[in-house]
Amino acid sequence: MDNLIPRLLIFLIALYMGLPFLLTRIFGWGVFRKASRKRAERHIAFTFDDGPDPRYTPKLLDLLRDRGVKATFFVLGSKAEKYPELVKRMHEEGHQIGIHNYTHMLNWIMSPRNILRKHVERSADIIQRITGERPTYYRPPWGF
Ligand SMILES: [Zn+2]
Repeated sequence: MDNLIPRLLIFLIALYMGLPFLLTRIFGWGVFRKASRKRAERHIAFTFDDGPDPRYTPKLLDLLRDRGVKATFFVLGSKAEKYPELVKRMHEEGHQIGIHNYTHMLNWIMSPRNILRKHVERSADIIQRITGERPTYYRPPWGF
């Protein structure tokens, strides 16, 4: 009986973390379109996370521009706020900008409401202020 509460807690945590993983990753629930083998043979998409970074992002943008390649940047709202000129450059050079939360915090340790308000909406507002466009794509940190 002493172990019931810790066991119940572990079960609930495993359920909270495991159920979304099963539904989205394994069964594709809420996923717009899963990659098919046929599409993967014809196309490739470059995506970059965790920026913008004043050391690497300008070099990456130079490389992409010189090669005529477009990419998607999933930026952290806190870094977009700190380096708006880099986000502006991404946008002006035709790259897509997505959200990667305000900070690189694991979603599993936050409530859905907290994720939406403090990370997704806040980051979308920052990106929209800089580029004039509201981002529509989201990549959760650590893939969860
Ligand atoms: Zn990341």
